[in-house]
Amino acid sequence: MVRYVYDFTEGGRDMADLLGGKGSNLAEMTRLGLPVPPGFTLTTEACRAFLETGSEPAGLWREVSAHLAALEASAGRSLGQPDDPLLLSVRSGAKFSMPGMMETILDIGLNDDSVLGLAKVSGSERFAWDSYRRLVQMFGSTVMGVDSSRFEQSLALLKELRGVQDDVRLPASDLAELVETFKNLIHLETGDHFPQSPAEQLRRAVMAVFESWNGERARVYRRREHIADDLGTAVNVQRMVFGNLGSDSGSGVAFTRDPATGRPGLYGDYLPDAQGEDVVAGIRNTVPLAELERLDATSYDGLRTHMRTLERHYRDLCDIEFTIERGTLWMLQTRVGKRTAEAAFVLAAALADEGLITPDEALDRVSGEGLARLMFPRFDTDSTGTALAHGVPASPGAAVGAAVFDSAQAVRRAAAGEKVVLVRQETTPDDLPGMIAAQAVLTSRGGKTSHAAVVARGMGKVCVCGAEELTVDTEARRFTAADGTVIREGTIVSVDGSAGAVYAGPVPLVDSAVIRYLEDGSGDGGSQYVVDAVARALARADTVRRLEVRANADTPEDAERARRFGAQGIGLCRTEHMFLGERRELVEQMILAGTDAEREKALADLLPLQRQDFVAILEAMDGLPVTIRLLDPPLHEFLPDPTELAVRIASAQARGEDPDAHDAELLSAVNRMHEENPMLGLRGVRLGLVVPGLVAMQVQAIGEAVGERLLAGGTPKAEIMVPLVGDVRELRLVREEVQRVLAEVSRAAGVALDCPVGTMIELPRAALTAGRIAEEAEFFSFGTNDLTQTTWGFSRDDVEAEFFSAYLDKGVFSTSPFETLDREGVGRLVGIAVAEGRAVRPDLKIGVCGEHGGDPDSVHFFHTAGLDYVSCSPFRVPVARLEAGRAAL
Ligand code: ADP
Ligand code: MG
Ligand code: MG
Repeated sequence: MVRYVYDFTEGGRDMADLLGGKGSNLAEMTRLGLPVPPGFTLTTEACRAFLETGSEPAGLWREVSAHLAALEASAGRSLGQPDDPLLLSVRSGAKFSMPGMMETILDIGLNDDSVLGLAKVSGSERFAWDSYRRLVQMFGSTVMGVDSSRFEQSLALLKELRGVQDDVRLPASDLAELVETFKNLIHLETGDHFPQSPAEQLRRAVMAVFESWNGERARVYRRREHIADDLGTAVNVQRMVFGNLGSDSGSGVAFTRDPATGRPGLYGDYLPDAQGEDVVAGIRNTVPLAELERLDATSYDGLRTHMRTLERHYRDLCDIEFTIERGTLWMLQTRVGKRTAEAAFVLAAALADEGLITPDEALDRVSGEGLARLMFPRFDTDSTGTALAHGVPASPGAAVGAAVFDSAQAVRRAAAGEKVVLVRQETTPDDLPGMIAAQAVLTSRGGKTSHAAVVARGMGKVCVCGAEELTVDTEARRFTAADGTVIREGTIVSVDGSAGAVYAGPVPLVDSAVIRYLEDGSGDGGSQYVVDAVARALARADTVRRLEVRANADTPEDAERARRFGAQGIGLCRTEHMFLGERRELVEQMILAGTDAEREKALADLLPLQRQDFVAILEAMDGLPVTIRLLDPPLHEFLPDPTELAVRIASAQARGEDPDAHDAELLSAVNRMHEENPMLGLRGVRLGLVVPGLVAMQVQAIGEAVGERLLAGGTPKAEIMVPLVGDVRELRLVREEVQRVLAEVSRAAGVALDCPVGTMIELPRAALTAGRIAEEAEFFSFGTNDLTQTTWGFSRDDVEAEFFSAYLDKGVFSTSPFETLDREGVGRLVGIAVAEGRAVRPDLKIGVCGEHGGDPDSVHFFHTAGLDYVSCSPFRVPVARLEAGRAAL
């Protein structure tokens, strides 16, 4: 018999799959003895059953009734009891927190009778009617589907009529009138009445929360956060406590540390005489938590104690929601809080120092993605000029974009390739698509716990909120700064999420403190604590990781940077760009050569140039391996565009001149070499086998460069890599030539040359015959870009615009297989090649040099697959180091 309902006293934090994050944490706090209003949780399993069949699973309501009866017995009154009603909240709560994405309904159990009873027992008519008003409003919009703005408009109208700013100022009679208005509105809009039966209210509220799992905004959020669509949400039914019972009551949100910087101290917002949803909605201006100490020292002390308890228990930053009812503190929610990348590093180091977590746990708490974010450039503070406004630095980073004033516009412009900054008074869950599309979010209201702040932080998006000096006029599509500057839609603004400042126009960017530290170990006054925390995480990762990290670098500058960033060699040095620029002409001559002598001349001219390239790179990477790949791309990439040539010839003819003979020759060569699918054509090892002298020239250049470095006293470690091999015989032929040339160079230069020869594994056939190939290869390097293209049969250059977004939408994959390695398909080929290659040659060195080498998820895969190293772009090297460390935990 499946069980669908658990009392808060029965669950715990390890039950998040079943009870959702909110429910399992409410149970955990209950177990810890914290003051949590009693209640029970309907499981995610009940939700899934409901969503599958469209009706309640059998037996669900019997269980709910039993738990409700127990709750009523302990409270000594029943749900909606007319003279003294027990009231309930019905709260959504999925496994992964989805702030504000789904529904919560408060004050269930009030009706035309019990509101009078509540007024009497509480001694406050205003409170009773305010609560009833909230219930009808939330129930009307969430359960009965009336547009919530209709209620808000009526409320705003009434406030205007009474000349008050704040709904706290509306007397009971007005609130009672509002309840009538709301009920009429519901009837008018739906043809249905607001249900007076508390039992019916409860049942319908629960079903509405289940259904909210499939609501539009919840789905958008899940896609953005890669949360599975089939988890379902739990529903928590809980006794209400009241923050709207007067000035000795209130609601708040708090963090055990600063979620933006990770630094110690209590952070939060408090709103006297309010129910919780008012705080997050940013309807009224909150006061900082410190103010609570003055208002109610006992509750403040209690809160601090509970927060310490929670942080020690969870061994992490927690965020909480609380309510004070006439001087009594109640804990309504906690969870391990979302944080910025910066805060994640700082917190991990601090918690390890405090002995709450081990160094390995600290490493596990940070991520390569977060590190990458800290390496992004920031604003050059010397050239920022005066800020238009300052607000709360809610989510760090530097963003420049055109101001837009609603979500739809943000989406539209971003889709057209424009960078935008979404500017709102405050955001609501409806703004989510715009927030995803924007570079940054800027609001004029709300604090660190406002919707904008929480959601932006979760996404790693730049956010400044509560910039109160700004007047945002959404209708007119503009905002005005305190100095009178008007920024209209489309005007470029710069948002500094670290300093909480907004500037007109684009502000120039400079390297982040983390980059400067990586570059030369230099410190940074203001953010030294971040740099230190990052350094500690990297050091730990280097201690525990098994994977080596190399870089893809083709120039001495890149090689040097990679080395500073911790690269242990070069895993891919492409030689093709060495054929561009002023050397293009020589390459043309080589390609177009009519005779052997002409070709040999061109190759001989290229030789010293190549040699110098290799000398410089080997010097930059002295002592560390440098894997040099022989020429890979199709030759026509080095020839001019045929259309351009044809136009040039045609216009010469139109002018009555003779077209340039060279142009005509080029055009016919280009046409002769035309390939329908060049990426599957004459390239890679095939070039080496078909173009006489090409391999020999490249290998001679490598051999001579090594010789030169040896004579100069260096320790060059060149490795020669053959691209696009599909069969062992291809590799054998090339390798014979490589060895012949190396032997010649060695003899001529009088030095011993030891250059391992290996191959890329980037065709399915190579992976499937890796055992054979290993007979000839001293190392393998997976070229996962080509391997992904050839395994899936789609071309990277063509798919992204064409159909990837449709595939992502339809869930064929949740991230592009060019970004994160497709473990199921491409990963399987990798596994086969590793196993069969090592079976033949146990000491076979195996690495990867595709983009995936710097992708966190893929790095974990390569660790597990038993590779020796990953190679990635220099800027990803620190990311790969960190993730290789985490993979080894
Ligand atoms: P969300 O997941 O969007 O944060 P919650 O379920 O936490 O939604 O509900 C929103 C707010 O409603 C809470 O912050 C809290 O202040 C208020 N609330 C929920 N349950 C209760 C309750 N039992 N008593 C008083 N207020 C409640
Ligand atoms: Mg909440
Ligand atoms: Mg390739």
